[in-house]
Amino acid sequence: MPLVVKAVGNMSQQISFKELLKVFGLGAVALVLGVEWFDWLMRRLRVRGPLKEVLFFPSTQTCLEHLFTPNSSFPCRCPLPHGKETSFSRLLRHLLSARASLDLCVFSFSHMELCRTILLLHERGVTVRVVTDRDYMTITGSQIGTLRRAGICVRHEMSTAVHMHHKFAIVDGKKLINGSLNWTVTAVQSNKENIMVTEEPELVRPYRLEFQKLWEANDPAKHTHQVTNGR
Ligand SMILES: [Zn+2]
Repeated sequence: MPLVVKAVGNMSQQISFKELLKVFGLGAVALVLGVEWFDWLMRRLRVRGPLKEVLFFPSTQTCLEHLFTPNSSFPCRCPLPHGKETSFSRLLRHLLSARASLDLCVFSFSHMELCRTILLLHERGVTVRVVTDRDYMTITGSQIGTLRRAGICVRHEMSTAVHMHHKFAIVDGKKLINGSLNWTVTAVQSNKENIMVTEEPELVRPYRLEFQKLWEANDPAKHTHQVTNGR
């Protein structure tokens, strides 16, 4: 009887050991697969990451009607080239991707198609806020008055000593468009300019803070002693 007990005891010890080996084996396989998968995931994240795009200007002139009226069933008959992607069409696509908000800091704003873009976003219910330069908002061709008449909130630099010289936009609080480009036809079609578009949170965050700082600092209610056109 004790022998049987001993034999059964050995067997159970043997089985346990085998199972243990199996568990360890499966664990090792799972660990290796896990490391491989994690490595694959990290490589994909490194390759893709947040949006990064660089656009250089001048940009060639093409028809942009399809961006403003994407559901039109009539082919555009204008003489400009159609179906060609340019730096400017990319910029418009990024701006028109706004669904909730667009915060814009721009020194000089006279480009009609960029104005049309902002008005379209406003019509779609996107909250648009613009901070611009005090002197340049009144130059001939400036679109700032058109924006204000449409009901878009525009504030301008209150100081007479400095210019609001930024040119950046934040789409939905998460996409930054920043560079040398003023929103003028000369800048878009003639000058050598650059724009960087990114959704890198560490880059977007400081611009959001800076915009908020400028927005609050140029609140006309805080400058009641000055004559302003701010809303
Ligand atoms: Zn056309």
